[in-house]
Amino acid sequence: MSLIRSGSVLSEVLESALPALAPYEGMTPEALRAGVEAGTLCLLANPAHAGARPTLIGRPGRVKVNANIGTSPLASDLAGEIDKLRVAEGAGADTVMDLSTAGNLDELRREMLAATALPLGTVPIYALAQQRMREDRDPADFEPADLLAEIEKQARQGVDFMTVHCGLTRRGAELARDGSRELGIVSRGGAILARWMRGRAEENPLLTHYDAILDIARAHNVVLSLGDGLRPGAGADAGDPAQWEEVLTLGVLARRARAAGVQAMIEGPGHVPLHLVRSQIEGIKRATFGAPLYVLGPLVTDCAAGRDHLTGAIGGALAVLAGADFLCYLTPAEHLCLPDASDVREGVLASRIAAQAAEASLGRPWAVERERGMSKARQALDWEGMARAALDPCLVRARSRGTEHGKECGMCGRFCAIRMSETGERG
Ligand code: SF4
Repeated sequence: MSLIRSGSVLSEVLESALPALAPYEGMTPEALRAGVEAGTLCLLANPAHAGARPTLIGRPGRVKVNANIGTSPLASDLAGEIDKLRVAEGAGADTVMDLSTAGNLDELRREMLAATALPLGTVPIYALAQQRMREDRDPADFEPADLLAEIEKQARQGVDFMTVHCGLTRRGAELARDGSRELGIVSRGGAILARWMRGRAEENPLLTHYDAILDIARAHNVVLSLGDGLRPGAGADAGDPAQWEEVLTLGVLARRARAAGVQAMIEGPGHVPLHLVRSQIEGIKRATFGAPLYVLGPLVTDCAAGRDHLTGAIGGALAVLAGADFLCYLTPAEHLCLPDASDVREGVLASRIAAQAAEASLGRPWAVERERGMSKARQALDWEGMARAALDPCLVRARSRGTEHGKECGMCGRFCAIRMSETGERG
């Protein structure tokens, strides 16, 4: 059956978004519609998110960057999270995920939805686990109906995309815990579900109730971000049986989503050594039938704590070259603490640099044009032009303050190669 069904919420939001979206993405409306129908493009647009900007994920559209924000039990402050949201927007994030695990999560989500036009994503199982922990109960002490109710509530609130770890099976969880991994399960959602399955000796409720989740997602045009609960948390674990067991299940679920009229994208690794990034990305894309791929990093070394935004940007650039569609940022705080606003800014910009480098290399017109714009401005010693072409215009303006248009900067002074080659001036 068709993914875009006549009269469906997806059909309506897609048709109203197409006139603005198609030229921005460099596609014809027909090609864009065909990509959504094929499941290789996803349109993030829950109509209950008032004022939100419909956003396309997938090739041949532009690569997008997501910023994760949200509270933790050690730092819970609504105003601070809204500030991070503003910083993420200002730095050029395309989407934001609220990964809050402390405070009033309903209020936080409502405030974030009201505060931003960027599509908002969540991980609904966090809310359930947080409620249980507040009641001093086990985070995995819930019924499948509780989880479905949470998903539906968030869909009604306007959440545009949700991470649901439907591909994590009992078999996969056991493979991740059989002693062959350096790091077992590093996904919070994956760990909660593995605990639930172990405690009850039952299959993942997100998998056994997948049809009910599809019904909710279709009714609200929520894009399912099929989570990677068994992603490798160490480079040495990349490509192990547990990871691929989950990926293969995700491929089956992506096809079921398409047949049910629901948009789905795939979440990917994780920690992956440099030389394995391409085979990982191509393998996941193949196994999931070309669904849009949303990657965390990948982190190409395990040893850069404090600067994992750089690790992730290196992996992200390689991943885009290999076919990834959507980059989830990492910040300098990754593995260490809750990111602050400055970390958020650095993380978004690092991922945007990765996307720009890879898209320019792939010859994507918008990226090539930006590269050319910068070169022309540099040749003309046009400092404002350089700022406009830069991914971080504020930084360029701040650091070139006082440098006159047409004059060299303080880097080389009278040794300015551009001036010397243009004017024959003696150094
Ligand atoms: S002084 Fe050096 S860095 Fe500055 S514009 Fe000239 S060549 Fe470039």
